[in-house]
Amino acid sequence: MKSPAISQAMDILRLLRQITETDAPVSEKLDQIIAMVAKQMEADAAACYVMVDDNYLELFASFGFNRDANHKISLRLGEGLVGDVAKHNRSLAVTDVWKHPAFSYKPEMGEEAYKSFVGVPLIRWGRAIGVITLQNKENVEYSASQIEILETVAMVLSELVASDDMNEFKNELIKERGQTGKEKYKGVALSKGYGIGVAVVHRRRQAVTKIFAEDKEKELRKLEVAHTQMNHDLDEKFNSTKLGIGEHVDILDAYRMFAKDKGWYKKIADNVSSGLTAEAAVERAYEDMWNRLSGTNDTYMKERLHDLRDVADRLLGYLSGDKTDVSTLDAKDLIVVAQTMGPADLMDYDYNKIRGLIIEDGTPTMHVAIVAKALGIPVVSKIKGIYNEIKTGELIAVDGNDGYVYIRPSEPIQQKIRAKISEKEKLQAKLAELKDLPAETKDGTRINLYLNVGLAFDLDYIETTNCDGIGLYRTEIPFMASETMPDVERQINYYRELMDRAGDKKVIFRSLDVGSDKLLPYWGSVGEDNPAIGWRSIRITLDRRAILRKQVCAFLRAAAGKELNVMFPMISNLAEFEEAKETLSLELEKEKRRGSPIPKKVNVGLMIEVPSVVFQLEAILKQADFISVGTNDLAQFVFACDRGNPRLSERYDVLSAPFLKLMHEIVSQANKAKVLCSVCGEMASNPIEALALIGLGYRNLSMSGSAFGKVKSMVRSTNLDDIEDYVKIMLKSNRRTLRPQLISYAYDHGIEIY
Ligand code: PEP
Ligand code: MG
Repeated sequence: MKSPAISQAMDILRLLRQITETDAPVSEKLDQIIAMVAKQMEADAAACYVMVDDNYLELFASFGFNRDANHKISLRLGEGLVGDVAKHNRSLAVTDVWKHPAFSYKPEMGEEAYKSFVGVPLIRWGRAIGVITLQNKENVEYSASQIEILETVAMVLSELVASDDMNEFKNELIKERGQTGKEKYKGVALSKGYGIGVAVVHRRRQAVTKIFAEDKEKELRKLEVAHTQMNHDLDEKFNSTKLGIGEHVDILDAYRMFAKDKGWYKKIADNVSSGLTAEAAVERAYEDMWNRLSGTNDTYMKERLHDLRDVADRLLGYLSGDKTDVSTLDAKDLIVVAQTMGPADLMDYDYNKIRGLIIEDGTPTMHVAIVAKALGIPVVSKIKGIYNEIKTGELIAVDGNDGYVYIRPSEPIQQKIRAKISEKEKLQAKLAELKDLPAETKDGTRINLYLNVGLAFDLDYIETTNCDGIGLYRTEIPFMASETMPDVERQINYYRELMDRAGDKKVIFRSLDVGSDKLLPYWGSVGEDNPAIGWRSIRITLDRRAILRKQVCAFLRAAAGKELNVMFPMISNLAEFEEAKETLSLELEKEKRRGSPIPKKVNVGLMIEVPSVVFQLEAILKQADFISVGTNDLAQFVFACDRGNPRLSERYDVLSAPFLKLMHEIVSQANKAKVLCSVCGEMASNPIEALALIGLGYRNLSMSGSAFGKVKSMVRSTNLDDIEDYVKIMLKSNRRTLRPQLISYAYDHGIEIY
């Protein structure tokens, strides 16, 4: 027979499901849940508070209190019992609130009759996003099982409170209240930090609505002005842009020439003369060209279509006055706004000027978010409609810690954001002081910290961080920044530049990892249904062996006389690894036969990203000099959860027993086989996740430069023995996420997790 507590919990869960599955508006669902929980748990009153700011909790739903108190009561974080629950992220039960020093009486609420109180935080990614409370008129002592039931309710409620519907509801409330109309929007934070600047809306495709011109002459003049201005801005932009490692400006000249092409301009002007508006004429010229070129087998000509679409969009932007080109803006601080974006798109902008990024359909491990994080740019995503809401040129503030976007922020908000920016700068200065101190735990274990690099600016981190080396060089990034496939010579230049900057430090080159969301401009997409599990990465380079041969040849030549470390991505079984290794050996033999200088030593490794290799690890480890776990892809395959799908981005947590057990298995096997094992996925860049990794036995972490100081600070404030013991306990837990537990552990043990 089930215990009364278990059957009570099951009843509540059943009712919760019934309520959450209805089509009722989110606020009504919340009301119904609160009333239901009060009744089921025999409480006289219940309430749900929701975090509306990083500092305030607002009463969103209540039962047994003054009905019109909803949305009128708010508490500061730490204020009263509710604020205390949220601040410390812990449940709290009190038999007599009136005797409790933290109690804060709110007369508007009508709570005079209640004595006992229990409050439980609603937790999302380790942070309180709300609080649910029960109160009784008697001095009730709430039992541990009652608190546990309420914690289960809180888990379901936190899903609801973090839902898109709730974000929309909050945005409505903000809109209703705002003095300036809509100012503040709630989304999901993807990269921490604060920024303020002028909006630039990323390459919005202009829908041409007006087809026929009323005044041909006027239309021609408009076209000429826009075209001249565009070319002027392009010239300036291309002369000043710093792209991928070793990237040459001459690659971009092809694009610039295209924009200046007289034939193309004449075609548009002819279309205008025949009666079309300038906008419609640009579209018509594009369509003509597309019709002629899209059917050809000439890849060079097909590549030009990509340029043409881009230049046409740019010109349309100039014609409509919504110039997405940053160089047309004088602002030195920019906030880039996009529906979605590839990582190379970010290079359209001068990264020194980007203060924030808003991606409507963003997810934490999508590549553009990784690149932005590496640049230390705050990113906020998942605000429905924000892309159309923001206009180029508007002042925008971004809060990447709590996931807020402010459109035309008021003076106090601007001040608040600027204060946060200066706070962050101070933290950075503090972390920079750790530069020459060892990355050693409190009990004396050295953790090797490496950098992930790909873009030109990443190289600066080699000097500023004093890292142990480059744990992952994403070689596809310069390929993506290029307009044509880099040949061996150009690749050698990229790789040499990196090795020179790294000096004696170890550098791990990863072979080309394209496909999925990393597309090359000169290779059209193959149009697969499931690109993340499709023809990508090593699968492409093994099939198109010449590409791999050329790349490893460039590695060998660039590393002549030095140690070379090559790593193959997305390996699914031993046979694939052997094939890739064989290609490298053949190229090495060729170099030797030619009498060319070769590397002093060549180490070959692979990335652990596809779960099948874990089941063949023993055999693989016999043939690998090192392995590196790519947790971004590994997690997407283990949880069967597309890393680029915003709907799923918060559903599964790497800080949960299934994933941690897998990570433990990998490092344990590698240690047994005495093969160097590191992590180069985003887990290593996030201090709380990196804490779990060192607890599991990882001693080599490779991360983005912007995370380096924070991870080092975590390492230096951790006692390894203790975290190892704690992680063992965590592996036995069946909770959906262990993040809150780990965060509490860090706070309790003085571990710095910024
Ligand atoms: C990973 O998958 O964890 C990884 C490091 O590779 P990328 O993010 O480049 O796919
Ligand atoms: Mg990967």
